[in-house]
Amino acid sequence: MSETTSVKSLIEPTGAVVPSTVPTHWYNLAADLPEPCPPALNPGTQEPLGPDDLAPLFPMGLIMQEVSTEREVEIPQTVREIYALWRPSPLIRAHRLERALGTPAKIFYKYEGVSPAGSHKPNTAVAQAYYNAVEGTTKLTTETGAGQWGASLSFACSLLGLDCEVWQVRSSYDQKPYRRFQMETYGGVCHPSPSDLTESGRAMLAADPDTTGSLGMAISEAVEVAAQDPNTHYALGSVLNHVLLHQSVIGIEAMDQLDQIGERADVIFGCAGGGSNLAGLTFPFIGRNVREGTSTQIVACEPAACPSLTQGEYRYDHGDVAGLTPLLKMHTLGKDFVPLPIHAGGLRYHGMAPMVSHTLNLGLMTAIAVEQEDAFAAGVEFARAEGIIPAPESTHAVAGAIARARAATTDETILIGLSGNGVLDLTAYADYV
Ligand SMILES: *Cc1c(COP(=O)(O)O)cnc(C)c1O
Repeated sequence: MSETTSVKSLIEPTGAVVPSTVPTHWYNLAADLPEPCPPALNPGTQEPLGPDDLAPLFPMGLIMQEVSTEREVEIPQTVREIYALWRPSPLIRAHRLERALGTPAKIFYKYEGVSPAGSHKPNTAVAQAYYNAVEGTTKLTTETGAGQWGASLSFACSLLGLDCEVWQVRSSYDQKPYRRFQMETYGGVCHPSPSDLTESGRAMLAADPDTTGSLGMAISEAVEVAAQDPNTHYALGSVLNHVLLHQSVIGIEAMDQLDQIGERADVIFGCAGGGSNLAGLTFPFIGRNVREGTSTQIVACEPAACPSLTQGEYRYDHGDVAGLTPLLKMHTLGKDFVPLPIHAGGLRYHGMAPMVSHTLNLGLMTAIAVEQEDAFAAGVEFARAEGIIPAPESTHAVAGAIARARAATTDETILIGLSGNGVLDLTAYADYV
């Protein structure tokens, strides 16, 4: 790397003008929860996790965010400059969808598909790459399902001068090569998981050579590699508190955008895999419900094939198959659960973010499970009315919202979290159409 593009220079702001509509702070729901979220536990001692337990995998800047109960966390200027490449993301009134449904309800969608990688995931990828670069990390490892996270982290690493190595769930690696091409274009390296490159991967292949893989398996591989090299850290695309914190820019902007046009969301639908885009969009609204007594209803929409919120147990479980990660109190189908290879690869996770699980448990949100057929039908209906082809994951939220709008008898305001676009998932639509 040349002197002018050293990591040190890449973490400095360029001086680009950032619109004031790009948030200056992330919002942390932990500050407003009526009861604190149960802590993550050390898998060995079963004691609450301390910063030292996480230090082999994460930079201190992110660890402090993981345990923070501050309501507002300042967004570094370099991160705001990068956000400004696509933020604020649009909030759009779905007039044509309303007309097609013949509903009296007003439908809005907050569209995260305008990011360079095509989803909400760069909101945290950029922040994670930034805090790692600041503390001298030279490489990040990670897992990816459909490939959205791997592509997002590869994008962020390329802008901030880090190497990026990705383990992608086998079924998606085979079904969706374009995400890998996207990662490679950004300079990332992508392996199918389980792979023979790690001890945990070799053990999983020995147990079942034809496994389609799972996010839990891919996490084990990425964590194993990061734990062995002091200059390599691990990055998780969902589930953890700091990831949800970074995603709060979605809800902060949406709330502002609605306020500006004098609207209040009556109900919000978001899709839930690990829970980060759902939390990012809805936690600022939940915080306001708690603080000010407003009553915006929140509906998490998960796939019927991987129903952690509606069918899982609420208990401590590992985030990965090998049991290398901390124990998290969450709604879980069990760490060994291997979901069917549904097209919404980003929703194939056995667990759910502890903060989302806790919020559901406190009655601050509700959850529904959506069948894949119904999700795609909603995605096609949305595309034909609004033009945007939603990511297969996002269609779950669209399905929930469309069912609500069809049943509506008032002009209630419905907000959809449209977490990404589906232009690299057209084979999934082709299978459906
Ligand atoms: C990854 C992904 C999801 C699921 O992840 P969450 O952490 O639950 O948000 C949803 N939508 C899209 C487009 C994704 O890429």
